Amino acid sequence: MSPTARSNPRDRLVHLDEPAVRELNAVAAILESLAVRRAPAFDAARRARLRAANARLRRAPDAVTAAIADSEVHALLVEPGADGDVLAMLRPVRGALRTCAARRPGDGAERHAAEHDAVIDALAAGDHALAARRLREHVAGGLPALLEGVANRTDRAGRAA
Ligand SMILES: [Zn+2]
Repeated sequence: MSPTARSNPRDRLVHLDEPAVRELNAVAAILESLAVRRAPAFDAARRARLRAANARLRRAPDAVTAAIADSEVHALLVEPGADGDVLAMLRPVRGALRTCAARRPGDGAERHAAEHDAVIDALAAGDHALAARRLREHVAGGLPALLEGVANRTDRAGRAA
């Protein structure tokens, strides 16, 4: 790694290796779950925004559009009204993981959106503990796709940098 890369935080994050991605994704799963567990009740308007973002994920024509819609869903789940301390921990973790986002195949989007629906359903029922558990499993279950992203990045860039 060049001295320049070492001094630039963003470049350090780009060079996350597989063990780091595993740990950071586990942290993201815990923090997103915690944020939802501690959040105030989700009103109908917020749930409607969640369903709309999830619908965009379902009909996304490509992986980039799907990733944007997925980010919207997760931001809506976690951010409005969330505990500020939890968010302060979560944001840099999310930012780091975003650098190795996978190219998801189209059929993955439907399963992914269905898992979001299960979280939103639990929130609609006022069961934040269940929503939190489902969200934690959903984020943890995204690890293989993230690791695929890391492998693809390594294939592309090698250790040439
Ligand atoms: Zn998701």
